[in-house]
Amino acid sequence: MIAKEMYELGAKSSVIREIFEYGKKRKAEVGAENVYDYSLGNPSVPAPASVNDAIRELCDTMNPCDLHGYTSAVGDNETRQAIADNLNSRFGTHFTMNNLYMTCGAAASLCITFRAIAEKDDEIIIFAPYFPEYKVFISAAGATPVEVKCKAEDLTIDLAAFEKAITPNTKAIVINSPNNPSGVVVDEETVKALCAIMKRKSEEIGRPIFLVSDEPYRELVYGDVQVPYLTKYYDNTIVCYSFSKSLSLPGDRIGYILVPDEVADFQQIYKAICGAGRSLGYVCAPSLMQFVIRRCVGQTSDVSVYQYNRDLLLDAFEKYGFKVAKPDGAFYLFMKSPEADAAAFCEKAKKYDLLLVPSDSFGFPGYVRLAYCVSTEMIKRSLPSFKALAEEYGLI
Ligand code: PLP
Repeated sequence: MIAKEMYELGAKSSVIREIFEYGKKRKAEVGAENVYDYSLGNPSVPAPASVNDAIRELCDTMNPCDLHGYTSAVGDNETRQAIADNLNSRFGTHFTMNNLYMTCGAAASLCITFRAIAEKDDEIIIFAPYFPEYKVFISAAGATPVEVKCKAEDLTIDLAAFEKAITPNTKAIVINSPNNPSGVVVDEETVKALCAIMKRKSEEIGRPIFLVSDEPYRELVYGDVQVPYLTKYYDNTIVCYSFSKSLSLPGDRIGYILVPDEVADFQQIYKAICGAGRSLGYVCAPSLMQFVIRRCVGQTSDVSVYQYNRDLLLDAFEKYGFKVAKPDGAFYLFMKSPEADAAAFCEKAKKYDLLLVPSDSFGFPGYVRLAYCVSTEMIKRSLPSFKALAEEYGLI
């Protein structure tokens, strides 16, 4: 009567959402200030003032039927050109609006891209730990997600394991740098080695393997860390971008897909992106947001707050004996669970009203994820609870 698979997907909500809902209930019981919710990657830093200024100005000056009307299916031309110009000035690339397709955020960008490139029996490689929705999006496109584990010692890509995982059915791989949940940035040396493997394997297979770069966290890096722009290293790269995190606009649903001219059969791939957008009902991203992006592209929220939060937690965890690597980007810490069963550790943490996410759904058991895109005051208030938790485990 109904699609069983879809029912199952809807009936079992994500672990992260479950913890977030528990947090809401708990806050009603003990007061919001006494619950330390590290579950959700919802930016805690507001969008820059220029975003609201742009919205006001657009409302005051634009014809409302144009402002709120459909743009063309691929997106507003001037918005796409503004994004291309911005990327060209930052990365020395040569994109035009014809390389861009506007979407409702990275989730839509990924779903459209997978749908556009995947055929039956195709495999798409993802690196664990990964954003759990990849498996949902890849399966929805009719392909099979293939997991390759990152190295346990530093959560970087295991190139030997990656090479072994490539088969004649490999259609694409997904890179997410900076990474959710580990915060790891893939450095240039690794990018070069990975692309060399992909070029060699594409030749062996006799067709390109696509590199899908999922980069909602591109601008969220700390210190002088560089995130290599992948189209410069590998021709068959498709970029899935979102303004959700860089401009703190996750609820406004705006992002894009970038298909460079260098992609093999560019015209066909771009048309397939348009077809997938159409078949999934994702044509014409929100118009108001497209016009805002036309004005605000290249700006970011004040990400220095995230760096401050990260350092506050890292300092405390070092004192308390928790094991966690220093992440270069995004707004997540991926901490080793002091017991093998991360879910059990999260249950114990709950006793102290610390809401952490066990790593099993990220494909990398034995860790917990903390989203530190929260108020600095909440972090400070939560430290005694972390200390008590560390004491319970005999870490201090
Ligand atoms: N990809 C990664 C790695 C994410 O962490 C997220 C959201 O948290 C998305 C994609 C989806 O982003 P959006 O909200 O723009 O759809």
